[in-house]
Amino acid sequence: MNAPKSNAKTPTKTHDDRYLATTHDVVNQPPALENYNLYEQDTALQEAVKREGASNAESDLEAFGAFAGSAATIDLGFRANNNKPTFNTHDRFGHRIDEVDFHPAYHELMRVAFENGLHSSPWTNPGKGAHVARAAKYYMHSQVEAAHCCPVTMTFAATPSIRKQPELAALWEPRVLANSYDARNVPDSEKTSVTIGMAMTEKQGGSDVRANSTLAHPAGSKGPGQAYELVGHKWFVSAPMCDAFLVLAQAAGGLSCFLMPRWRPDGTKNPWQIQRLKNKMGNVANASSEVELRGALAWMIGEEGRGVPTIIEMVAMTRFDCMIGSSAGMRQAVAQATHHCRHRSAFGSRLIDQPLMQNVLADLALENEAALAYTMRIARALDNQDQEHERLLARLATPVGKYWICKRTPNHAYESMECIGGSGVMEDCIMPRLFRESPVNAIWEGSGNVQCLDTLRAIQKEPETLDAFFREAALAKGTDRRFDQFLAQLQNDFADISDFQYRARNLVDRMALVMQASLLLRNADKAVADAFCASRLQFSGGMNYGNLPSGTDAAAIIKRATPVVG
Ligand SMILES: Cc1cc2nc3c(=O)[nH]c(=O)nc-3n(C[C@H](O)[C@H](O)[C@H](O)COP(=O)(O)OP(=O)(O)OC[C@H]3O[C@@H](n4cnc5c(N)ncnc54)[C@H](O)[C@@H]3O)c2cc1C
Repeated sequence: MNAPKSNAKTPTKTHDDRYLATTHDVVNQPPALENYNLYEQDTALQEAVKREGASNAESDLEAFGAFAGSAATIDLGFRANNNKPTFNTHDRFGHRIDEVDFHPAYHELMRVAFENGLHSSPWTNPGKGAHVARAAKYYMHSQVEAAHCCPVTMTFAATPSIRKQPELAALWEPRVLANSYDARNVPDSEKTSVTIGMAMTEKQGGSDVRANSTLAHPAGSKGPGQAYELVGHKWFVSAPMCDAFLVLAQAAGGLSCFLMPRWRPDGTKNPWQIQRLKNKMGNVANASSEVELRGALAWMIGEEGRGVPTIIEMVAMTRFDCMIGSSAGMRQAVAQATHHCRHRSAFGSRLIDQPLMQNVLADLALENEAALAYTMRIARALDNQDQEHERLLARLATPVGKYWICKRTPNHAYESMECIGGSGVMEDCIMPRLFRESPVNAIWEGSGNVQCLDTLRAIQKEPETLDAFFREAALAKGTDRRFDQFLAQLQNDFADISDFQYRARNLVDRMALVMQASLLLRNADKAVADAFCASRLQFSGGMNYGNLPSGTDAAAIIKRATPVVG
């Protein structure tokens, strides 16, 4: 059918087509922070790598830095988060499958992490600089996307615990340490590389795992290395598509540690059923789940009733990675904030040149430098566990650092977001993701108070840990009067630890500060060390970022921290 003829006249043209779509020029907006080298543009990281013994990894780190800063890699991080994992209990034919479906970007990031040995390198090539080099790479990778680093960390951290049961280690370790990633939902016997998760937390017992109610029944003989059937539940299990999990459950002789694969040796599905995925505020690219164990087959690792000392080896490593992850979140936030302010003008000059913004940016950069210096020093301690001082230092400095660095991150993320202004709140900027990610490290793997109590436990059980801690801190003695006074006061306050629990946060805060100050005084840029002592060791009454005193060389601190892009 023909359309009826219209009598309407064509309107007379009164304007020029060239201007139809152009209402204004876009000016005073920064270029995207992409296609830059995360290693080459991070002076503090380069210094830490050299200082802590990983100079020979530099060319590898440079190559990885270019990869991590590329627009394509950054895009993977956004895609993995914009497309949350989904969960299917059954396939379309009604078979129970317990399958979590991730976006291809998540798998791509996992592939990169595993092929780069972020889960394995200090175990496969231990020695000078091994943990340091891995930490530096993880630091960059986590800036791209933090959530998928959870299963990377768990797989990395599981090795020391699995090694406590040599026959299980012989079976699992080659696949745990293989530098490849196999995402298929098939029995581990068909895989040459596997991932490992951990399942401790229950509804009634999170921090206090002694309250766990999941039961372990021997399938035949009892004891280390033997098979058990687990019945109960777990309230938090992240990365539930891992091929196996370290699980805490109650055996007759008490809480014990088990290695539980998702599949039985005969290729049937282990009755470990995911109930649902957690609806998390952050860390969304990584699935976390609630699970029921309905007689799931698992093998005991370590002594019966010694579950906590067995799994604590894994937990110590995950806590270390929390430090790297939170330091990395800070670094990415500082990079975003300084980059923005370098390109954005207000009231007639660039934000990065305006005194008040300089105070805020330099303060944020200091926090990140201190977190990184602390983390990388612990990495060196992990590389030298055969030396008594390093062993003692790592034991005490890990809960102190996990507590402090992770707890400093949320406000740091928020303040960095504010430097960017309204655009920093938008979901197409990485800042909302960094902000939502920021509380997670502080809460999992032992929340703040639990870290403080672990600090106390370490000191009470092994008082030499405190001696080692102060011995290390005191290496900066005589370099700064404020530091000397702060250290002396803190040591004095440890003379009586009878009410340590009540005072623990204050003491642990100051332990972290004194160690960070010591490291910066000994190793960092003079402006950084001076500003840190002035602002962190002397109370000026200001509680927010942007409280650096007059005389601070803020421009120098910011210059070190600002990636030069565009
Ligand atoms: C995103 C996410 C993923 C997770 N994934 C896993 C996983 O894969 N596997 C796993 O096992 N767990 C996982 N968890 C659980 C996590 O480890 C726990 O939430 C955490 O250990 C705290 O336990 P809870 O939640 O039971 O809190 P609680 O133990 O009830 O603690 C509540 C608060 O009380 C404080 N507290 C506890 N005891 C004391 C005390 N004696 N004195 C003073 N204060 C105290 C704690 O510090 C905390 O602030 C995950 C959690 C999150 C948020």
